[in-house]
Amino acid sequence: MTEGSGLEALHPGTLDCVHCGLCLSSCPTYRVTGRETSSPRGRIYLMRGVAEGEVPLSDTLAEEAYLCLGCRACETACPSGVAFGSLLEQARAVVDDAGLRRGWAKRIERFALRQVVPRKPVLRGVMTGLSAVQRFGLDRLVLPLLPRRLREMHGLLPKVPAAVDRRRLPEVVPARGEIRGRVAFFEGCIMPEMFGAVNRATVEVLAEQGFEVIVPASQGCCGALQAHGGELEFATELARANVIAFRQAGEIDAVVSNSAGCGAALRELDHWLGEEGSLLAGQVRDICEFLDQVGLRGAPRPLARRVAYDDPCHLVHGQGVAGAPRRLLEAIPELELVAHDDPSSCCGAAGIYNLTQPEMSAAVLARKLDALEAAQPEIIATGNPGCLMQLEAGVRSRGLNMRLAHPIELLAEALC
Ligand code: SF4
Ligand code: SF4
Repeated sequence: MTEGSGLEALHPGTLDCVHCGLCLSSCPTYRVTGRETSSPRGRIYLMRGVAEGEVPLSDTLAEEAYLCLGCRACETACPSGVAFGSLLEQARAVVDDAGLRRGWAKRIERFALRQVVPRKPVLRGVMTGLSAVQRFGLDRLVLPLLPRRLREMHGLLPKVPAAVDRRRLPEVVPARGEIRGRVAFFEGCIMPEMFGAVNRATVEVLAEQGFEVIVPASQGCCGALQAHGGELEFATELARANVIAFRQAGEIDAVVSNSAGCGAALRELDHWLGEEGSLLAGQVRDICEFLDQVGLRGAPRPLARRVAYDDPCHLVHGQGVAGAPRRLLEAIPELELVAHDDPSSCCGAAGIYNLTQPEMSAAVLARKLDALEAAQPEIIATGNPGCLMQLEAGVRSRGLNMRLAHPIELLAEALC
């Protein structure tokens, strides 16, 4: 091992695996391929072999590190406490540093994750342009001329909301009625552009429940997508900017997030930044977790809907939150919460995985859709932007009579 290299940092975590194999059946890529090398145990074995110099640092590690969804279902299943998510980020950084990810796809991904996603004005400009293209049907005109891969990517793209639905939140939203506390809201980068209505529902419910909501203007992208893409140093820079932004919010009870991927990344800021990130990491709560902890004030109005809740990986496996969204939905009179057979496995979105690994993503999504189709809900509720978009595309492609919603939107309907 080279001293100070990523391999040196990677090695100790791989030793926690005792090769018991209890994680295999929960791994989506193992379930699809049946290959040991595409299982958590196989990947850890490979990482350890590379770190110890027994296996060459080659395309094999690169392929497996990026075929993995990063869903962390293996962490939930593992009795030995293997921190697979962290191992995966380190392995991807090693692969990237060794120049093993090549080609135009990597260059576009790197450009998008560095120059577009974390830059609010640039992202806003791209979304505004995309909205205009969709509104005038220009995408449908050029679609037949595009390569197959780009046509498939287009199929995953939901309609960009109108500008009025992408308006910014105020920096302070006052509490209504008797004040119960003060929270800061993490609005995310994709959420305001694609799910502005979810962000507004979140602050509305918090205010209605008696919480003053601070939305720090200087907050930015959480860095999760960049870290998953092997850009750990860049992700750390983004994380540091958020630590400063939320410190300026002053005394708060919690930093509330409604995006599972962002929440999971923020909760691990102490891994990226050490002591510097530990205060913010400890303050982060998912919106459903927070409301469940403080308790709902007032009785929700009836909402006669048949709803299936689907766990986002980065909420159930990344943050250990599974019961809170279900309890809140069950508290709504007349809402029928229906179970389905595959709630806590990945839907195949996994950040930008559905763009970089479309075949595996489609295979993983198909299994999820089979389970949802059998349960026949009217609404699929899930709390992560990637999952909302992926499941919406899946429902659309199968022509299912279901719609997607974030749990907080249903709560806003019943409470505000
Ligand atoms: S993170 Fe998900 S896809 Fe990757 S090894 Fe673990 S269970 Fe399998
Ligand atoms: S369950 Fe944990 S210890 Fe067992 S093989 Fe999987 S990662 Fe290793």
